[in-house]
Amino acid sequence: MALVVQKYGGTSLANANKIHAVAERIARAVGSGDRVVAVVSAMGSTTDDLIALAKRVNDRPSPRELDLLLSTGELVSSTLLAMALGSIGVKAVSLSGAQAGIRTNASHGQAKIADVEPHRICYELDRGRTVVVAGFQGITDEMDVTTLGRGASDTTAVAVAAGLQAQRCEVYTDVDGIYTADPRLVPDARKLDEISFEEMLEMASYGAKMAPRSIELGMVYGIPIVVASSFVEAPGTLIHSGACMNTNVTEMRNRVSGIATDVDVAKITVLGVMDRPGVSAALFEPLAAADVSVDVIVQNAGEGGATDLTFTVKKSDLSKALDVVNKTSKQIGNRGVVSDDNLAKISIVGTGMREGSGYASRMFRALADRGINIEMITTSEIRITCIVHRARVAEAAQALHASFELEKPGG
Ligand code: ASP
Ligand code: MG
Repeated sequence: MALVVQKYGGTSLANANKIHAVAERIARAVGSGDRVVAVVSAMGSTTDDLIALAKRVNDRPSPRELDLLLSTGELVSSTLLAMALGSIGVKAVSLSGAQAGIRTNASHGQAKIADVEPHRICYELDRGRTVVVAGFQGITDEMDVTTLGRGASDTTAVAVAAGLQAQRCEVYTDVDGIYTADPRLVPDARKLDEISFEEMLEMASYGAKMAPRSIELGMVYGIPIVVASSFVEAPGTLIHSGACMNTNVTEMRNRVSGIATDVDVAKITVLGVMDRPGVSAALFEPLAAADVSVDVIVQNAGEGGATDLTFTVKKSDLSKALDVVNKTSKQIGNRGVVSDDNLAKISIVGTGMREGSGYASRMFRALADRGINIEMITTSEIRITCIVHRARVAEAAQALHASFELEKPGG
Protein backbone atom coordinates (compact mmCIF):
# COMPACT_ATOMS: atom_id res chain seq x y z
CA MET A 1 0.00 0.00 0.00
CA ALA A 2 1.71 3.13 -1.23
CA LEU A 3 1.08 6.73 -0.29
CA VAL A 4 0.90 8.65 -3.53
CA VAL A 5 0.41 12.32 -4.34
CA GLN A 6 -1.37 12.91 -7.65
CA LYS A 7 -1.44 16.37 -9.20
CA TYR A 8 -4.05 17.34 -11.78
CA GLY A 9 -3.61 20.40 -13.97
CA GLY A 10 -6.28 22.85 -15.04
CA THR A 11 -6.96 21.32 -18.46
CA SER A 12 -7.60 17.95 -16.80
CA LEU A 13 -10.31 19.58 -14.66
CA ALA A 14 -11.76 22.01 -17.18
CA ASN A 15 -15.41 20.88 -16.86
CA ALA A 16 -17.71 18.58 -14.86
CA ASN A 17 -17.09 15.59 -17.15
CA LYS A 18 -13.34 15.94 -16.86
CA ILE A 19 -13.62 16.27 -13.08
CA HIS A 20 -15.56 12.99 -13.10
CA ALA A 21 -12.87 11.35 -15.21
CA VAL A 22 -10.22 12.48 -12.71
CA ALA A 23 -12.34 11.11 -9.86
CA GLU A 24 -12.51 7.76 -11.66
CA ARG A 25 -8.75 7.70 -12.03
CA ILE A 26 -8.27 8.44 -8.34
CA ALA A 27 -10.86 5.78 -7.47
CA ARG A 28 -8.81 3.20 -9.39
CA ALA A 29 -5.69 4.05 -7.42
CA VAL A 30 -7.64 3.91 -4.14
CA GLY A 31 -9.23 0.63 -5.25
CA SER A 32 -5.81 -0.87 -5.83
CA GLY A 33 -4.95 -0.12 -2.21
CA ASP A 34 -3.02 3.15 -2.50
CA ARG A 35 -3.65 6.06 -0.19
CA VAL A 36 -4.06 9.13 -2.38
CA VAL A 37 -3.62 12.84 -1.83
CA ALA A 38 -4.71 14.77 -4.91
CA VAL A 39 -3.42 18.30 -5.51
CA VAL A 40 -5.38 20.35 -8.03
CA SER A 41 -4.99 23.45 -10.18
CA ALA A 42 -7.85 25.78 -11.00
CA MET A 43 -10.27 24.70 -13.74
CA GLY A 44 -9.21 25.63 -17.29
CA SER A 45 -8.36 29.29 -17.64
CA THR A 46 -9.87 30.33 -14.28
CA THR A 47 -6.69 31.95 -12.99
CA ASP A 48 -6.26 34.06 -16.14
CA ASP A 49 -9.94 35.02 -16.00
CA LEU A 50 -9.71 36.08 -12.35
CA ILE A 51 -6.61 38.18 -13.05
CA ALA A 52 -8.38 39.88 -15.96
CA LEU A 53 -11.44 40.51 -13.82
CA ALA A 54 -9.36 42.01 -11.02
CA LYS A 55 -7.64 44.34 -13.50
CA ARG A 56 -11.00 45.57 -14.72
CA VAL A 57 -11.83 46.59 -11.17
CA ASN A 58 -8.42 48.04 -10.34
CA ASP A 59 -5.51 48.12 -12.79
CA ARG A 60 -3.04 47.74 -9.92
CA PRO A 61 -4.85 45.40 -7.54
CA SER A 62 -3.46 44.98 -4.05
CA PRO A 63 -1.26 41.87 -4.07
CA ARG A 64 -2.92 40.62 -0.90
CA GLU A 65 -6.43 40.90 -2.33
CA LEU A 66 -5.33 39.44 -5.66
CA ASP A 67 -3.84 36.39 -3.93
CA LEU A 68 -6.98 35.72 -1.91
CA LEU A 69 -9.02 36.10 -5.09
CA LEU A 70 -6.80 33.76 -7.12
CA SER A 71 -6.80 31.15 -4.37
CA THR A 72 -10.54 30.70 -4.96
CA GLY A 73 -9.83 29.10 -8.34
CA GLU A 74 -8.23 26.09 -6.70
CA LEU A 75 -10.94 26.00 -4.00
CA VAL A 76 -13.54 25.54 -6.72
CA SER A 77 -11.72 22.62 -8.35
CA SER A 78 -10.79 20.91 -5.06
CA THR A 79 -14.30 21.02 -3.62
CA LEU A 80 -15.85 19.83 -6.88
CA LEU A 81 -13.38 16.96 -7.11
CA ALA A 82 -14.15 15.90 -3.53
CA MET A 83 -17.87 15.95 -4.44
CA ALA A 84 -17.23 13.91 -7.59
CA LEU A 85 -15.30 11.36 -5.53
CA GLY A 86 -18.17 11.21 -3.06
CA SER A 87 -20.61 10.56 -5.89
CA ILE A 88 -18.79 7.36 -6.81
CA GLY A 89 -18.41 6.14 -3.27
CA VAL A 90 -14.87 7.31 -2.49
CA LYS A 91 -14.76 9.04 0.88
CA ALA A 92 -13.00 12.33 0.25
CA VAL A 93 -12.35 15.70 1.82
CA SER A 94 -11.02 18.89 0.25
CA LEU A 95 -8.57 21.17 2.06
CA SER A 96 -7.43 24.69 1.22
CA GLY A 97 -3.68 25.26 1.20
CA ALA A 98 -3.96 26.77 4.68
CA GLN A 99 -5.90 23.77 6.02
CA ALA A 100 -3.36 21.45 4.43
CA GLY A 101 -0.59 23.18 6.41
CA ILE A 102 1.22 24.94 3.56
CA ARG A 103 3.08 27.75 5.34
CA THR A 104 4.71 30.39 3.19
CA ASN A 105 6.58 33.66 3.41
CA ALA A 106 4.65 36.86 2.72
CA SER A 107 5.80 37.46 -0.83
CA HIS A 108 2.40 37.76 -2.48
CA GLY A 109 2.12 36.39 -5.99
CA GLN A 110 5.28 34.34 -5.68
CA ALA A 111 5.41 33.12 -2.12
CA LYS A 112 7.93 30.45 -1.14
CA ILE A 113 6.85 27.47 0.91
CA ALA A 114 8.58 27.66 4.29
CA ASP A 115 7.14 24.49 5.73
CA VAL A 116 4.44 21.88 5.29
CA GLU A 117 2.62 20.86 8.47
CA PRO A 118 0.51 17.99 7.22
CA HIS A 119 -1.31 17.05 10.47
CA ARG A 120 -4.74 17.51 9.01
CA ILE A 121 -3.87 15.58 5.85
CA CYS A 122 -2.53 12.70 7.96
CA TYR A 123 -5.59 12.76 10.19
CA GLU A 124 -7.90 12.49 7.19
CA LEU A 125 -5.83 9.75 5.57
CA ASP A 126 -5.90 7.81 8.82
CA ARG A 127 -9.68 8.04 8.76
CA GLY A 128 -9.59 6.39 5.37
CA ARG A 129 -10.35 9.48 3.36
CA THR A 130 -8.85 10.61 0.10
CA VAL A 131 -7.60 14.17 0.52
CA VAL A 132 -7.92 16.81 -2.20
CA VAL A 133 -5.61 19.78 -1.62
CA ALA A 134 -6.08 23.12 -3.37
CA GLY A 135 -2.75 23.75 -5.10
CA PHE A 136 -0.91 27.02 -5.75
CA GLN A 137 -1.63 28.56 -2.33
CA GLY A 138 -0.50 28.75 1.24
CA ILE A 139 -0.78 30.89 4.32
CA THR A 140 1.60 33.26 6.12
CA ASP A 141 2.25 33.46 9.84
CA GLU A 142 -0.13 36.44 9.82
CA MET A 143 -2.85 34.20 8.32
CA ASP A 144 -2.85 35.92 4.95
CA VAL A 145 -3.44 33.69 1.97
CA THR A 146 -0.62 33.70 -0.59
CA THR A 147 -0.13 32.19 -4.03
CA LEU A 148 3.08 30.51 -5.13
CA GLY A 149 3.52 31.80 -8.70
CA ARG A 150 1.96 30.77 -12.00
CA GLY A 151 1.92 27.04 -12.58
CA ALA A 152 2.90 26.37 -8.98
CA SER A 153 0.38 23.65 -8.19
CA ASP A 154 3.23 21.36 -9.24
CA THR A 155 5.22 22.86 -6.39
CA THR A 156 2.39 22.27 -3.90
CA ALA A 157 2.19 18.65 -5.03
CA VAL A 158 5.88 17.89 -4.57
CA ALA A 159 6.01 19.83 -1.28
CA VAL A 160 3.07 17.83 0.05
CA ALA A 161 4.70 14.60 -1.16
CA ALA A 162 7.89 15.59 0.68
CA GLY A 163 5.98 16.58 3.82
CA LEU A 164 4.20 13.21 3.85
CA GLN A 165 7.25 11.26 2.73
CA ALA A 166 5.12 9.84 -0.06
CA GLN A 167 6.52 7.15 -2.35
CA ARG A 168 6.13 9.32 -5.41
CA CYS A 169 4.42 12.31 -6.92
CA GLU A 170 2.42 11.74 -10.10
CA VAL A 171 1.74 14.81 -12.22
CA TYR A 172 -1.19 14.33 -14.60
CA THR A 173 -1.41 16.83 -17.39
CA ASP A 174 -2.45 17.36 -21.00
CA VAL A 175 0.79 15.96 -22.42
CA ASP A 176 1.91 12.38 -21.92
CA GLY A 177 5.37 13.13 -20.59
CA ILE A 178 8.55 15.13 -21.03
CA TYR A 179 9.75 15.32 -24.63
CA THR A 180 13.18 15.72 -26.18
CA ALA A 181 11.83 19.05 -27.50
CA ASP A 182 8.51 20.87 -27.66
CA PRO A 183 6.49 18.66 -30.08
CA ARG A 184 4.71 21.73 -31.43
CA LEU A 185 8.06 22.98 -32.73
CA VAL A 186 9.77 19.69 -33.53
CA PRO A 187 7.44 17.10 -35.06
CA ASP A 188 9.79 14.15 -34.44
CA ALA A 189 10.34 14.99 -30.77
CA ARG A 190 10.34 11.83 -28.68
CA LYS A 191 8.90 11.14 -25.26
CA LEU A 192 11.59 10.37 -22.68
CA ASP A 193 11.10 7.35 -20.41
CA GLU A 194 13.17 9.01 -17.74
CA ILE A 195 15.25 12.07 -17.03
CA SER A 196 17.38 13.13 -14.08
CA PHE A 197 16.30 15.89 -11.69
CA GLU A 198 19.30 17.94 -12.72
CA GLU A 199 18.46 17.81 -16.40
CA MET A 200 14.77 18.37 -15.78
CA LEU A 201 15.54 21.40 -13.65
CA GLU A 202 17.41 22.95 -16.58
CA MET A 203 14.65 21.93 -18.98
CA ALA A 204 11.96 23.41 -16.71
CA SER A 205 13.86 26.63 -16.06
CA TYR A 206 14.51 27.04 -19.76
CA GLY A 207 11.05 26.35 -21.13
CA ALA A 208 9.63 22.87 -20.41
CA LYS A 209 6.23 23.28 -18.85
CA MET A 210 6.81 22.38 -15.21
CA ALA A 211 7.38 24.68 -12.27
CA PRO A 212 11.17 24.60 -11.74
CA ARG A 213 10.71 24.88 -7.98
CA SER A 214 8.81 21.57 -7.96
CA ILE A 215 11.76 19.82 -9.57
CA GLU A 216 14.12 21.41 -7.07
CA LEU A 217 12.00 20.13 -4.18
CA GLY A 218 11.85 16.64 -5.70
CA MET A 219 15.62 16.66 -6.01
CA VAL A 220 16.24 17.91 -2.45
CA TYR A 221 13.73 15.56 -0.79
CA GLY A 222 14.28 12.60 -3.10
CA ILE A 223 10.69 12.38 -4.34
CA PRO A 224 10.48 10.68 -7.76
CA ILE A 225 8.07 12.54 -10.05
CA VAL A 226 6.10 10.86 -12.83
CA VAL A 227 4.66 13.11 -15.54
CA ALA A 228 1.87 11.44 -17.50
CA SER A 229 -1.32 12.17 -19.42
CA SER A 230 -4.54 12.44 -17.47
CA PHE A 231 -6.50 11.43 -20.55
CA VAL A 232 -4.82 8.20 -21.63
CA GLU A 233 -3.28 5.30 -19.74
CA ALA A 234 0.41 5.44 -20.69
CA PRO A 235 3.58 5.24 -18.61
CA GLY A 236 4.77 8.86 -18.93
CA THR A 237 8.22 10.13 -17.94
CA LEU A 238 9.96 9.37 -14.65
CA ILE A 239 12.01 12.24 -13.20
CA HIS A 240 14.38 10.86 -10.62
CA SER A 241 17.86 11.04 -9.19
CA GLY A 242 19.12 7.65 -10.25
CA ALA A 243 21.39 7.11 -13.19
CA CYS A 244 19.56 5.85 -16.23
CA MET A 245 18.18 2.44 -15.54
CA ASN A 246 17.60 0.97 -18.94
CA THR A 247 20.09 2.52 -21.28
CA ASN A 248 23.71 2.06 -22.05
CA VAL A 249 25.42 4.42 -19.66
CA THR A 250 28.38 5.34 -21.85
CA GLU A 251 26.14 6.16 -24.73
CA MET A 252 23.91 8.16 -22.40
CA ARG A 253 26.84 10.23 -21.18
CA ASN A 254 27.57 11.43 -24.64
CA ARG A 255 24.10 12.53 -25.39
CA VAL A 256 22.10 15.64 -25.16
CA SER A 257 18.88 14.73 -23.33
CA GLY A 258 16.66 17.47 -24.59
CA ILE A 259 16.15 20.87 -26.09
CA ALA A 260 14.33 23.53 -24.12
CA THR A 261 12.76 26.55 -25.76
CA ASP A 262 11.29 29.66 -24.23
CA VAL A 263 9.65 32.33 -26.34
CA ASP A 264 8.90 34.73 -23.50
CA VAL A 265 12.17 36.62 -23.81
CA ALA A 266 13.16 40.27 -24.17
CA LYS A 267 16.58 41.84 -23.88
CA ILE A 268 17.75 45.18 -22.63
CA THR A 269 21.14 46.71 -23.44
CA VAL A 270 22.52 49.59 -21.43
CA LEU A 271 25.14 51.25 -23.61
CA GLY A 272 28.30 52.85 -22.30
CA VAL A 273 28.03 52.19 -18.59
CA MET A 274 31.05 53.15 -16.52
CA ASP A 275 33.57 50.38 -16.08
CA ARG A 276 34.01 50.56 -12.32
CA PRO A 277 33.01 48.65 -9.19
CA GLY A 278 29.39 48.91 -8.09
CA VAL A 279 27.83 49.62 -11.48
CA SER A 280 26.16 46.23 -11.90
CA ALA A 281 24.92 46.31 -8.34
CA ALA A 282 23.47 49.78 -8.93
CA LEU A 283 21.68 48.54 -12.03
CA PHE A 284 20.37 45.20 -10.79
CA GLU A 285 19.42 45.99 -7.19
CA PRO A 286 16.45 48.17 -8.18
CA LEU A 287 15.35 45.48 -10.68
CA ALA A 288 15.38 42.89 -7.91
CA ALA A 289 13.48 45.27 -5.65
CA ALA A 290 10.85 45.60 -8.39
CA ASP A 291 10.60 41.77 -8.58
CA VAL A 292 11.94 41.63 -12.13
CA SER A 293 13.82 38.42 -12.57
CA VAL A 294 16.84 38.82 -14.78
CA ASP A 295 18.23 35.88 -16.67
CA VAL A 296 21.10 35.91 -19.15
CA ILE A 297 23.56 38.70 -18.36
CA VAL A 298 26.44 39.62 -20.64
CA GLN A 299 28.91 42.41 -20.02
CA ASN A 300 31.37 43.27 -22.74
CA ALA A 301 35.05 43.80 -22.03
CA GLY A 302 35.48 47.44 -21.07
CA GLU A 303 37.07 49.88 -23.50
CA GLY A 304 37.96 53.48 -22.75
CA GLY A 305 36.39 53.24 -19.30
CA ALA A 306 32.97 52.22 -20.56
CA THR A 307 31.22 48.98 -21.42
CA ASP A 308 27.84 47.66 -22.62
CA LEU A 309 25.68 45.54 -20.40
CA THR A 310 22.97 43.32 -21.85
CA PHE A 311 20.50 41.11 -20.02
CA THR A 312 17.23 39.32 -20.65
CA VAL A 313 13.92 39.47 -18.81
CA LYS A 314 10.51 37.96 -19.45
CA LYS A 315 8.71 39.74 -22.25
CA SER A 316 5.87 40.44 -19.84
CA ASP A 317 8.34 42.20 -17.49
CA LEU A 318 9.94 44.36 -20.18
CA SER A 319 8.07 47.60 -19.61
CA LYS A 320 8.48 47.36 -15.85
CA ALA A 321 12.19 46.63 -16.31
CA LEU A 322 12.65 49.54 -18.73
CA ASP A 323 11.02 51.92 -16.25
CA VAL A 324 13.47 50.85 -13.59
CA VAL A 325 16.53 50.86 -15.88
CA ASN A 326 15.73 54.26 -17.37
CA LYS A 327 15.58 55.67 -13.87
CA THR A 328 18.87 54.19 -12.65
CA SER A 329 20.95 54.17 -15.81
CA LYS A 330 21.49 57.94 -15.71
CA GLN A 331 23.49 57.58 -12.52
CA ILE A 332 25.88 55.08 -14.07
CA GLY A 333 26.74 57.20 -17.09
CA ASN A 334 25.21 55.48 -20.07
CA ARG A 335 24.79 56.33 -23.74
CA GLY A 336 21.27 55.02 -23.97
CA VAL A 337 19.12 51.98 -23.41
CA VAL A 338 17.89 49.74 -26.22
CA SER A 339 15.57 46.77 -26.05
CA ASP A 340 14.23 43.96 -28.22
CA ASP A 341 11.20 41.87 -27.35
CA ASN A 342 11.26 39.50 -30.30
CA LEU A 343 13.60 36.92 -28.90
CA ALA A 344 13.62 33.31 -27.76
CA LYS A 345 15.92 31.11 -25.75
CA ILE A 346 16.99 27.78 -27.07
CA SER A 347 19.03 25.40 -24.93
CA ILE A 348 20.59 21.99 -25.19
CA VAL A 349 20.61 20.09 -21.91
CA GLY A 350 22.50 16.97 -20.88
CA THR A 351 24.67 15.76 -18.03
CA GLY A 352 27.09 14.45 -20.66
CA MET A 353 28.35 17.99 -21.19
CA ARG A 354 30.14 17.81 -17.89
CA GLU A 355 32.66 15.35 -19.26
CA GLY A 356 32.38 15.51 -23.02
CA SER A 357 33.53 18.18 -25.40
CA GLY A 358 32.36 19.58 -28.70
CA TYR A 359 28.76 20.29 -27.68
CA ALA A 360 29.03 24.04 -28.11
CA SER A 361 30.72 23.90 -31.49
CA ARG A 362 28.17 21.38 -32.74
CA MET A 363 25.33 23.60 -31.55
CA PHE A 364 26.77 26.72 -33.17
CA ARG A 365 27.46 24.85 -36.41
CA ALA A 366 23.88 23.56 -36.60
CA LEU A 367 22.55 27.11 -36.14
CA ALA A 368 25.09 28.60 -38.55
CA ASP A 369 24.18 26.11 -41.29
CA ARG A 370 20.61 27.45 -41.13
CA GLY A 371 21.79 31.05 -41.11
CA ILE A 372 20.36 31.60 -37.64
CA ASN A 373 22.05 34.44 -35.81
CA ILE A 374 22.98 34.01 -32.16
CA GLU A 375 22.35 37.14 -30.12
CA MET A 376 23.72 35.95 -26.79
CA ILE A 377 25.21 32.78 -25.35
CA THR A 378 25.21 31.46 -21.82
CA THR A 379 26.08 28.13 -20.26
CA SER A 380 25.79 26.06 -17.10
CA GLU A 381 27.60 22.83 -16.36
CA ILE A 382 24.99 20.82 -18.22
CA ARG A 383 23.34 23.37 -20.53
CA ILE A 384 24.21 25.71 -23.39
CA THR A 385 21.69 28.43 -24.17
CA CYS A 386 21.54 30.73 -27.20
CA ILE A 387 19.28 33.73 -27.59
CA VAL A 388 17.90 33.85 -31.14
CA HIS A 389 15.13 35.66 -32.95
CA ARG A 390 11.72 34.32 -32.04
CA ALA A 391 10.76 33.81 -35.68
CA ARG A 392 13.62 31.32 -36.05
CA VAL A 393 13.09 29.27 -32.89
CA ALA A 394 11.22 26.34 -34.45
CA GLU A 395 13.82 26.01 -37.16
CA ALA A 396 16.59 26.23 -34.59
CA ALA A 397 14.98 23.54 -32.44
CA GLN A 398 14.60 21.26 -35.45
CA ALA A 399 18.21 21.81 -36.49
CA LEU A 400 19.52 20.99 -33.02
CA HIS A 401 17.22 18.01 -32.62
CA ALA A 402 18.59 16.56 -35.82
CA SER A 403 22.21 17.49 -35.14
CA PHE A 404 22.20 15.78 -31.74
CA GLU A 405 20.20 12.83 -33.11
CA LEU A 406 17.48 13.11 -30.52
CA GLU A 407 14.92 11.37 -32.70
CA LYS A 408 16.79 8.13 -32.11
CA PRO A 409 15.64 6.17 -29.08
CA GLY A 410 18.16 5.19 -26.44
CA GLY A 411 18.65 8.58 -24.86
N1 ASP B 1 -3.89 27.97 -11.35
C1 ASP B 1 -2.55 28.44 -11.24
C2 ASP B 1 -2.08 28.98 -12.57
O1 ASP B 1 -2.80 28.93 -13.54
C3 ASP B 1 -1.62 27.39 -10.71
C4 ASP B 1 -1.43 26.18 -11.59
O2 ASP B 1 -2.11 25.99 -12.58
O3 ASP B 1 -0.56 25.36 -11.27
O4 ASP B 1 -1.00 29.47 -12.67
MG1 MG C 1 -2.02 25.76 -14.72
